[in-house]
Order: sequence, then structure tokens, then C-alpha cells
Amino acid sequence: PLYVAHPDRYKTMKYQRCGKSGLRLSRLSLGLWQNFGAVDSQANARNMLRRAFDLGITHFDLANNYGPNFGSAESTFGNIFKQDFAHYRDELIISSKAGYDMWPGPYGIGGSRKYLVSSCDQSLKRTGLDYFDIFYHHCMDPETPLEETMQALDYIVRSGRALYVGISNYQPEQTQEAARILRELGTPLLIHQPRYNLFDRWIENGLTDVLKAEGVGSIVFSPLAQGVLTNKYLNGIPANSRAARPELIYLNNKDITPEKLQKVQALNTLAESRGQSLAQMAIAWTLHNDAVTTCLIGASRPAQIDDSVAALNNLDFSADELATIETILK
Ligand code: NDP
Repeated sequence: PLYVAHPDRYKTMKYQRCGKSGLRLSRLSLGLWQNFGAVDSQANARNMLRRAFDLGITHFDLANNYGPNFGSAESTFGNIFKQDFAHYRDELIISSKAGYDMWPGPYGIGGSRKYLVSSCDQSLKRTGLDYFDIFYHHCMDPETPLEETMQALDYIVRSGRALYVGISNYQPEQTQEAARILRELGTPLLIHQPRYNLFDRWIENGLTDVLKAEGVGSIVFSPLAQGVLTNKYLNGIPANSRAARPELIYLNNKDITPEKLQKVQALNTLAESRGQSLAQMAIAWTLHNDAVTTCLIGASRPAQIDDSVAALNNLDFSADELATIETILK
């Protein structure tokens, strides 16, 4: 039977303008970096996408190399999109990226026009989409002139492959320069995608000032530090967690140190006093930063998406709570 989205999906979710653009994004977005590869359960992937959209999440984030294997998250998404979401295309913001390693040889990595345009075409093919809403350069390439990379993004928009452009993992000065070049080209920089969570606050050191001055929005990734900012690791490493899966090389049990767990425990106590799970408080804390448009969560099952979206029930922090957080993190 045809998937029909929940009729109340726009009532509970909150939406925020992305920088000075006309585009509003749901305050939570769902990323497909993990758990949507060819190796993962396609039924679970489908249930997660449906649950997210039912809860008012309108934005799904992809990249060329999400999987494993490279490209397979886009294929998974494409299959599900065709079955469930094609008739909702105009209610969705779908992004992809190129920048990191994708295919062998000099044209499958970096910031060249050659790589970005051909990778965007591959991503459109895998997802079956006519266009992306947002196309990103995934990381700065010091060997390619910034002008060339920005011209490629501008061309991707002008040729109809994407509606807006973004950059990810760019430092503050590079971001300012990218915004200037794109403004001159007539394709304004919509959004920046940096990592941001209670343990990684680098964006507070210059980037958020640039984004606000330039009128650029932001979508922050790994708000839960890949799951560490939840209560799941407080009593060891559960078998069904990301840290327990040796093939997921970006988080392993060595990252979960006793010192970190001590902080997580204290944060968990504070979250409980706010009537939230730690995951919810960690998400709310990122959204409390006024440079942050939307918080880009990951999930391994639908129930986590319910839990994370409920963060919206308490986004306020008292001065005392913020001070306690600073003390815990010191
Ligand atoms: P998170 O920090 O949100 O971690 C997600 C993981 O945490 C889940 O897979 C799950 O892991 C666990 N989790 C999620 N919700 C809950 C919950 N409510 N309670 C308990 N555990 C929970 O984000 P990710 O690191 O996954 O990144 C999110 C997205 O950001 C990616 O999908 C991608 O789109 C983007 N990204 C972008 C990058 C870039 O360079 N631009 C780099 C990295 C990510 P489990 O259950 O398996 O333990």
C-alpha cells in the first residue's frame, strides 16, 4: 500500500529560516551516513525514513560515499524514495556532497570542477532524483583554488542539478572567502555543515561569527558525538551500539574513556533534572546556539528518532544549567 505520511507532521516539528535565505528547515534533520548502507537492513532504513518524515523532519542528508560501500546509502535512499516519497518530493529537502575519497584516480577526490560535477551526476543517478535541494563541497581542498570549487557549485545550481549550495568542515576564513566568491557569482552560500556537540565546540571559535555576519545558516553533525552523549555507554558497551561494531571505524571503544564517561554521567544527571534524556539535552543544547539552524542526527532504529525529536519539548536553558554544563566540561 502507498505510504501516507502522518497528517499532524507539521504541527509538532519546529522550522527555522536558514541564515538569510528563504528556506526554512526542520530543527532536526536525519543523516544517512550510518545504517543505510547495502550491508544494513533495508526494512529498518525504510522505517526510519518514514518515522522521521511522520515527525515533521523534512531534511535528509546524504553524501556520495555514505555506505558501506561508497554510494550505497544513496542507492538505499533512492529505492525507498521511489516507493514511499516520490509523491512527497516537494515537501523534502535532500542533500548530497562530494569532496572526500569516492573513486580511484585524481578525479574521484578533492575540489575540482571535474570531480564535483561528475560526482553530482552519479549521486543523482543513484538516488533517482532530478535535482538535489542542497549540494555541498564536503571538505576544503587546499590544492584546488577556492574559485574553481565555488564556480563548480555555482554551475551545479545553474545547470539545474541543485537548488542551493553548502560547504562542510571549512574553517572560518575559508568560509568567509567562499561566501564572498559565491555572492559575486550570484549563488549565495546557503549553509555550512560542521561538527558540533558538547564535546566539540570548535565552531564557537570564529565560525559562528562568520556565519551570522554572512547570513549563512548551519546544520551541525554528530550532536550526540556518535552516541557517546547518551546514557547507553554508562554501564559498558551494549552489543547493539555503534561502538560495538568493529567495521564502523569512526567510533570505537577506545573513544569511550573513563574521563569521558564521568562527564557523561554528570551531564546525564543534569538532563534528568530537566526532565530530558541526555540525548535530548545534547540536541537541545546545540539548537540553543543562535547560529545553528538545524541539528543533524543519526539513528540506528526508529525509536531513537522519536526520542531525539522530543528534545524540542525543552529547548530553554537557565543560566544555572549552562554554568553547570561548563563546569562539567572543564
Ligand atoms: P549522532 O551524533 O546523532 O550519532 C548517531 C548515533 O547515536 C546513532 O546512530 C545511534 O547509534 C545513537 N543514537 C541516536 N539517537 C539516539 C538516542 N535518542 N538515544 C540513544 N542513542 C542514540 O550523529 P552521527 O555521527 O550519526 O552523524 C549524523 C549525520 O551527520 C550523518 O548521518 C551525516 O549525515 C552527517 N555527518 C556529516 C559529516 C561531514 O563531514 N559533513 C561527518 C559525520 C556525519 P547506535 O544506536 O548505533 O549506538
